[in-house]
Amino acid sequence: MKHTIKSILIANRGEIAVRIIRACRELKIRTIAVFSDSDRTSPHVLLSDEAYHIGPSPSSHSYLNQDMIIAIAKKADVDAIHPGYGFLSENATFAQRVSNEGFIFIGPSAASIEAMGDKTAARKLMKEAGVPIVPGTIKPLTSLSDAHQVATNIGYPVLLKAAGGGGGKGMRIVEEDKDLQGSFKAAQNEARSAFGDDRVYIEKYIRAPKHIEIQIMADEHGNCAHLGERECSIQRRHQKIIEEAPSLAIDRRIRDEMGNAAIKAAKACNYVNAGTIEFLLDEKKNFYFLEMNTRVQVEHPVTELITGVDIVKEQIAIASGKPLSFKQKDIVANGHAIECRIYAEDPLNNFLPSIGTVKRLQAPSGPGIREDRGIQQGNEITVHYDPMVSKLIAWGRTRNEALGRMDRALNEYLIQGIITNIPACIHVIRHPRFIDGSYTTHFMSDDYNPEELRKSYDDELIAVAIAAAAMVHRQKKQPVLPLVKQNKISQWKYQYRMIDK
Ligand code: ADP
Ligand code: ADP
Ligand code: MG
Repeated sequence: MKHTIKSILIANRGEIAVRIIRACRELKIRTIAVFSDSDRTSPHVLLSDEAYHIGPSPSSHSYLNQDMIIAIAKKADVDAIHPGYGFLSENATFAQRVSNEGFIFIGPSAASIEAMGDKTAARKLMKEAGVPIVPGTIKPLTSLSDAHQVATNIGYPVLLKAAGGGGGKGMRIVEEDKDLQGSFKAAQNEARSAFGDDRVYIEKYIRAPKHIEIQIMADEHGNCAHLGERECSIQRRHQKIIEEAPSLAIDRRIRDEMGNAAIKAAKACNYVNAGTIEFLLDEKKNFYFLEMNTRVQVEHPVTELITGVDIVKEQIAIASGKPLSFKQKDIVANGHAIECRIYAEDPLNNFLPSIGTVKRLQAPSGPGIREDRGIQQGNEITVHYDPMVSKLIAWGRTRNEALGRMDRALNEYLIQGIITNIPACIHVIRHPRFIDGSYTTHFMSDDYNPEELRKSYDDELIAVAIAAAAMVHRQKKQPVLPLVKQNKISQWKYQYRMIDK
């Protein structure tokens, strides 16, 4: 087994592939990208040292094609493979195959992935390790009567979840016993078609929780430390949209308790490399283990900004056998960071994915702003992959400063050709419940109001009309109305209205 890493194949695409390439560049590691038909001119291809075509656009024929990835790794004679997130990152068979072929898998062992990949098995393991889990079953349901009994015991409402689930899919809330039969069947069918595994189990449905997760890092010498929490309660269809660190909801005592529970969880599955333990926090501030993500997380940059640890470089160091570059006591949160996931989705049309060519792209920058993006001007957003195009991250000494920077940057952002959720992000970060930190995972369904957003578009349209009139005025060399001068037309509203398809 190789142990020195001089070259890495990145088995992924988009912003995370770019993120990994950047870490490699800083470490002087040769990078090998793979790309599908529709990604020929994507930034991850252009930034890499070498790039190999992997197949047609559908991921099952490209980024999920294990044979092809291994063949390219051999051909390019790489030392290691980084799986990023999504795709093959949590596939234990792939991780095992990578090491069987003599490459380093930049991530945990196949056994750890396997232990945490099955949600019921993970719950059992956590229970045994003394980590609090959401009340419910630790075995998949065997029959409808089993389901009735469990649900009655823990009390409605309950949540039916797929044992092999992920990506926010495969969950069903059941409010009353009479609905259980229909939901149980439906949940099994959904789980079968989405994950090829129809096993479902029951968890108590926590009414108004916050999603809080702990980043951990562990090396092969037995060192394990946590990098504090991320609050990820702003979600739509159980998928995160905005994340921040630290969370306003927890104090030092709870942070220490959650951190210790996360380390216990990692140790229970002999974890090595970067991982995240997700928890739900209820109204009484009890926290419960939800699941472990055995890979780098989408929202890792907020942790990087407040701790100063480069999580991807640390992953590579761990995979090459080095001890953690820090001790628990070295981890001190500095300031506040917020991330907005920029999706090609229409916020006024039920977040319908917006496909097309990115005709113009002008990204924000300036103090405290980081952007991790996987597309550039001229690229196409297709139906084949997740519609996330970019992550905008703001840092400030205080939460208020970070919010101000995020608001400013979102308004600077100009993307034409596709519709994005940028206006929705602005709307959320200006919402009183976001500002006071009292938001829960129900924010997008209960507090977010698309009608208010629509109204702000209309107001802005009037502003655009006034500004246009002012331009005509100016050309006629007549004085411009002061009112118009004050009307700064935000780029995103302009972009939405001026979209040319
Ligand atoms: P994170 O937990 O890092 O915030 P997400 O839950 O948003 O990440 O998932 C990261 C990526 O992986 C997304 O592109 C998501 O669509 C994809 N993903 C995660 N789990 C699955 C799964 N089981 N099946 C398909 N896609 C998944
Ligand atoms: P996935 O693997 O799809 O990420 P998770 O188990 O991490 O699934 O849950 C994703 C989200 O679904 C959580 O962040 C939370 O918003 C919601 N959720 C999951 N389980 C529960 C529960 N028992 N009660 C309330 N909400 C839940
Ligand atoms: Mg999750």
